[in-house]
Amino acid sequence: MNSTYPDSAEQLLRTLPTGLRIGGQSVPSITGAAFDVTDPATERTLTSVADATVDDALRAVETAHSAASVWAATPTRERSDILRRSYEILVERTDEFAMLMTLELGRALPDSLAEARYGADFLRWFAEEATRINGRVTTSPGGTGQIVVAHEPLGVCLAITPWNFPLAMGTRKIGPALAAGNVMIVKPASETPLTMLALADVLTEAGLPAGVLSVLPTSNAGGVTGAILSDSRVRKVSFTGSTRVGQILLRQAAERVQRTSMELGGNAPFLVFDDADVDAAVEGAFAAKMRNGGEACTAANRFLVHSTIAEEFTTKLTEKMAALRLGAGYDAGVTLGPLISADQRASVAGIVESALASGARLRLGGKIPDGEGFFYPPTVLDQVDAYAPATREEVFGPVAIISTFQTENEAVAAANSTEYGLAAYFYSRDIDRCKRVATALRAGMVGVNRGIISDVAAPFGGVKMSGIGREGGSEGISDYLDSKYIALT
Ligand code: ADP
Repeated sequence: MNSTYPDSAEQLLRTLPTGLRIGGQSVPSITGAAFDVTDPATERTLTSVADATVDDALRAVETAHSAASVWAATPTRERSDILRRSYEILVERTDEFAMLMTLELGRALPDSLAEARYGADFLRWFAEEATRINGRVTTSPGGTGQIVVAHEPLGVCLAITPWNFPLAMGTRKIGPALAAGNVMIVKPASETPLTMLALADVLTEAGLPAGVLSVLPTSNAGGVTGAILSDSRVRKVSFTGSTRVGQILLRQAAERVQRTSMELGGNAPFLVFDDADVDAAVEGAFAAKMRNGGEACTAANRFLVHSTIAEEFTTKLTEKMAALRLGAGYDAGVTLGPLISADQRASVAGIVESALASGARLRLGGKIPDGEGFFYPPTVLDQVDAYAPATREEVFGPVAIISTFQTENEAVAAANSTEYGLAAYFYSRDIDRCKRVATALRAGMVGVNRGIISDVAAPFGGVKMSGIGREGGSEGISDYLDSKYIALT
């Protein structure tokens, strides 16, 4: 697929910040090294960014540590105002951020516009939360005095973000960390560092003091983050990414007993009961599957549909998937962009092949198009056994895998038969069933007759191997605060 960049993209590429962000400045790496950022639609280099080394990481910790006490003592109203101004600047630059994300991540522009708004909204939400960090005072039941509970920032925090939501996964961590009075070092995914560097510029423009936020793109993720976590001045790591890397970070954080927030993998079931509104379920299924081109940890990964409505559901979902237009995300009219990388595409293709090998039927797609770019077509597979190996893996691509069930118990058992527990969805018009199934599903988030559940005001997070901690809502800020009990007479 041959694409030329729109004028707005050319302009952006000329003006992007590409240095490390340390001490409020854009600086080269100590060694002068840089690495390339690739456009997944053309496989060509977009630009290159400074490549942080372990020494750069230590410099960032030093700078962060020296900014920490002043920021912690900054009135919450001032912290709030800076976050609010950042939100306003981001909103003004929605189109620019959307284009930037599409360039480095590949996905279709409408999805990037949605993230630009969603990502900005975390800054607004946590600007509001900043001034509502309330403690409490109670009298000891034994009459021995007063219990005063105050909340204090942790200090230097490390955030490690993934490529699939390069803005929102940053603001969801930076917003609460800074609102609560912490300073933060962000290590963005090496596939998508540009959005985070541009975001750091926005925060500086909004008045954030130097050193409060550092950004370290690197091709040596393990080395750089390992060095940061081995410094005992660093008190927390917040990570969004794979369970495998989350486990490595949990082990590292154990050394210095650092706080952790882990948003890890998912394997979301999407159940459609025979009393569901099938058209609404198809709409919800399409949204839950195809948001971000399927590259979301909350994406519906396995559809479990009552056998009596399975054919109607599958036919309608297939029609919607077939109507997607595959192409470079920045081309007009495109609704499905490429995947992030050749590896990611090979993983998606492997899952489809595994399903077909175990007897699935191909209803749509399944064939990698010729030409440049990491494209994979919208694909629908049905007649998949609910426990087939293909249902055990996180697809992270535009592939709908459909199984059937006969009874509610069978559906819930299949839905829960995974080590993950991030999101789960179901459709039913029976209120008793809705209450029963919402309770029975083992997931941190359950969508009832809804395909999109992410909301800045809601606690996002998983159970089991999907993670620890919550982001967003009022819960999101408590993950960045320590409680201090002060005993008074
Ligand atoms: P994905 O498979 O979606 O790329 P990863 O968990 O590999 O998910 O990546 C998520 C983030 O974790 C990225 O910023 C990546 O650079 C970073 N990362 C990868 N390996 C490590 C590691 N060993 N230690 C710390 N961060 C890592």
